[in-house]
Amino acid sequence: MLSKLAPTGGTENELVADALRYAKSGFLVFPLHAVKDGKCTCAKSDCTSPAKHPRTIQGLKQASRDLDFVKNLFGCFTYASANIGIRTGKESNLVVVDIDAAKGGSIEELYDFVPKEILEKTLWIKTGGGVHLYFAYPPNAEIRNSTNKLGNKIDVRGEGGYVVAPPSTHITGKTYEFLNDNRIMPLPPEFIERLNRIEPKAKKNETLESESYLNGSRNDSLARVAGKLRHAGLSKSELETSLLKINSERCKPALAEKEVLRIAWSIARYDVGQSPNIKFESVKDAAADFPSLLLTKTANVCIEEAKLSPTPKTLFDEFWFEGEICILFADTGLGKSVLAVQVADSITKNLSIGHFALEAEKQKVLFFDCELSQKQFEKRYAVKENDILTNHYIFDDGFLRTVINRNAAMPKHFKTFEDYLFFSLEYEVAQAETSILIVDNITYLKSATETAKDALPLMKELNRLKDKYKLSIMALAHTPKRDMTRPITVNDLQGSKMLSNFADSIFAIGQSAKDNSLRYLKQIKVRSEEKIYHEENIAVCQLIKPDNFLMFDFLNFGSEREHLKALSDSDKSELIQQVRNLSAQHESQRTIAKNLGISLGAVNKYLNM
Ligand SMILES: [Zn+2]
Repeated sequence: MLSKLAPTGGTENELVADALRYAKSGFLVFPLHAVKDGKCTCAKSDCTSPAKHPRTIQGLKQASRDLDFVKNLFGCFTYASANIGIRTGKESNLVVVDIDAAKGGSIEELYDFVPKEILEKTLWIKTGGGVHLYFAYPPNAEIRNSTNKLGNKIDVRGEGGYVVAPPSTHITGKTYEFLNDNRIMPLPPEFIERLNRIEPKAKKNETLESESYLNGSRNDSLARVAGKLRHAGLSKSELETSLLKINSERCKPALAEKEVLRIAWSIARYDVGQSPNIKFESVKDAAADFPSLLLTKTANVCIEEAKLSPTPKTLFDEFWFEGEICILFADTGLGKSVLAVQVADSITKNLSIGHFALEAEKQKVLFFDCELSQKQFEKRYAVKENDILTNHYIFDDGFLRTVINRNAAMPKHFKTFEDYLFFSLEYEVAQAETSILIVDNITYLKSATETAKDALPLMKELNRLKDKYKLSIMALAHTPKRDMTRPITVNDLQGSKMLSNFADSIFAIGQSAKDNSLRYLKQIKVRSEEKIYHEENIAVCQLIKPDNFLMFDFLNFGSEREHLKALSDSDKSELIQQVRNLSAQHESQRTIAKNLGISLGAVNKYLNM
């Protein structure tokens, strides 16, 4: 049994103080979305669980009572408000009985089997449409989430569940409030008995019609049954046993055992009472707790909405538009970081870079720098006189630079370095309230963690952040040493296929073979517009430092071919061999031309030599 809640700490901001108060009382807490201007802070117009769903990726899994961690976790939302979620179950020593009066639930129903005086002794919370009764988790029984087991529209939140806690705001504008300041009492034995009474197997027989599942509907039917059984409280192994039995009795013909086990596994991933898949009879009720992954609208509504959303503006000419994930790649030493800093400087000062268009308005940029030390950064943006750095370039204060804090010890809540990094990145984005992120560079992050085989998790995470915070992201990537006799193609980007899928746009910096100090910019992938900076119209630049600012200086447009190295005889015979090898692997001439960056005519010629 818990004592009364801990008092607030005093100096923290209110949200953090409230979250810490719960943590000090032993509850595991985590942030939920809140209400802003009458809407959920997830900003989705069709959010189905407004102000009730987790605010961070890891959600419920991140729930903690570690005071430092909770302080940091809720500190992220200092500027953007959050509701407080308390994880229920054994770990928090908490079971909550939720009476949804707005939907017809009545506490009177509970008085039928537990005396009113007993129920009135525990902590009561007013919710958006009813009341929560808090109880201590029973030491010798397991309490799972359930619906309607104690009465109509009376739910129970136990293992794997959570509740919204005071002083969170309900989507209706009402706040969750303490109705009393009672201690949290033990869960009445009558409840425990009732919650454990229902035999899943008896329920199974009730809910399953004795129909046959024919070829074509067997998977769906079994999944539906599995959902019902999971909802009724079956464990994974019980689910497997039941499904195998149903499969042999009803599926015509029976599915392979492996397939049945896969269905059991996929349904058992959801916590009991938590699955978006399980309330098939009342899908809309389920949707009230869990937002759907999909969005369905009429085509006309799509067009009307599109009309209202503005045409994306350029951040760096046609290379990078607002709202896009853009990849900039090049060999080491060609000045990727220089260009990226120049772009960030241009956006934060709202000054376009020479010839290149900037339509977006002045805004902050968060520059995640894994490349340069503070000293190296200083050196690039200052003048060296008699071995002393002087006359430093003045950046706009909206230019925020973030680096990895090598002294930070990984909190135990994070399983991997990546989890910690992703959490920290989101934290910095939220703190900075920026909508522009530049990552220099993803290749570094890849090698920083031994477990990640490629940059895929990072790109997925960037994509998620992009959607969540409406970010524009530029990610820098290294390439393996390029063959300078051939035009730059997407194949020069390491991990090209996967990275390319995640990027809205890609551009590259090439080095001119004519003149080592010349660089050129070339578009490799564009999402919306036609390519402007294609191989016949590359932007030729020189790298200069006129004063205290190392930069790309636009010279003219050119043809990429003029800047490529001439083929030597040995280069040429190697190329011919590659063409033949690819052809022997049954690649089409078109694919070969594309992969090797040569013309279709040349492929044809080499194959007929
Ligand atoms: Zn929402």
